[in-house]
Amino acid sequence: MKKKIAILGSTGSIGTQTLDVIAEHSDLYEARVLTAGSNASKLIAQARQFAPDAVVIANEAKYAEVRDALADTDVKVYAGAKALREVVTMPSVDVVVSALVGFAGLEPTLAAIMACKTIALANKETLVVGGQLVQSLAAQYKVAILPVDSEHSAIFQCLAGEGNNEIDKIILTASGGPFRKFTREQLDHVTAADALHHPTWVMGDKITIDSATMMNKGFEVIEAKWLFGVDASKIEVHVHPQSIVHSAVQFSDGSVKAQLGIPDMRLPIQYALSYPSRLPLSGKRLNLFEVGQLTFEKPDTDRFPCLSLAYEATQRGGNIPCALNAANEVANLAFRQGRLSYNGIYQVIRQVIDETDFDANADLDVYRDTDRQARLDAQALIKP
Ligand code: NAD
Ligand code: MG
Repeated sequence: MKKKIAILGSTGSIGTQTLDVIAEHSDLYEARVLTAGSNASKLIAQARQFAPDAVVIANEAKYAEVRDALADTDVKVYAGAKALREVVTMPSVDVVVSALVGFAGLEPTLAAIMACKTIALANKETLVVGGQLVQSLAAQYKVAILPVDSEHSAIFQCLAGEGNNEIDKIILTASGGPFRKFTREQLDHVTAADALHHPTWVMGDKITIDSATMMNKGFEVIEAKWLFGVDASKIEVHVHPQSIVHSAVQFSDGSVKAQLGIPDMRLPIQYALSYPSRLPLSGKRLNLFEVGQLTFEKPDTDRFPCLSLAYEATQRGGNIPCALNAANEVANLAFRQGRLSYNGIYQVIRQVIDETDFDANADLDVYRDTDRQARLDAQALIKP
């Protein structure tokens, strides 16, 4: 029996690499549902190649284009955000790969959990915003949330076979991004084009900017807290420019286990699909002689204050991480569009968090309201 897979965000960086894994192991996996935001032509091409049961284009203005292009096939075509929440519950789906960007990923992922689908989670914003809700629903519906993010896959691989052995700390590695060596003054003048040259990973634009501010690493601290049930105070970020050690776990006896490999997202994607088995993967192999040196530095939170902001937000809890995420989505986009400076990203998020009404017992409605309000607050601080 092949595993039947739905991909939320099939046209993106994670989505296309998931399809590469499915194509490489077509005896084991099949794509049954593909979804995209606005990229109709890529979604159409993917539908022709993989012949899924259904596709969704979130942007309703593109519906007719996709429907007409697939009229001679058996592929059902839907559009809109509601359809995203519905297709993941289809009986023909076993695993949902959650690879949308941002808050948009939260509700389809919750719908998939409540339909008892296994989740392969790339969309970290889902756990940043609603980690508590996601984990309590996953426990209630007995659903596994398998990490796709490379650091979290590394931690997950380190924990294999460890049962309830106590974790002393998690060592979360970070490449440091393209501005690792820049001064604060230099950071005042960097542009989105500078930030989009990531030294070790090729990813979607939003996460690439988050890597340049290290908000991505802050989000990953929150993601690790919820995935592995470890307090944020026990999650330590180590800057490791070679991106070879993907993360590590230190246990109560002092032993440290790490997972190493070349930077290639297909490995964590494939592991989430094949867990607990491993499968062959084509491509380059890690050669430590060639790498030569593995180095580690403390992150500089004066130059990368977004990292501290994420720790602060998760320690406050409630709806604050949701506000953090919403303000970051708005500021990140404004920076990409040249409407906000690099250092302005932190300033906007700081101010939005300070303006947010704290709600300790956040539920989905509170997340929706907080997300909406924080976006408005952030937009008000940025030139149109
Ligand atoms: P991407 O921008 O390349 O792709 C995003 C996908 O989501 C696309 O298919 C797009 O069409 C779709 N999409 C975007 N907004 C949408 C919306 N509002 N409604 C419906 N569909 C929408 O992004 P990516 O780099 O693949 O990242 C996806 C997620 O995975 C993010 O949460 C990111 O943080 C996480 N992640 C990515 C990487 C990576 O290497 N790219 C690594 C770790 C984690
Ligand atoms: Mg990562």
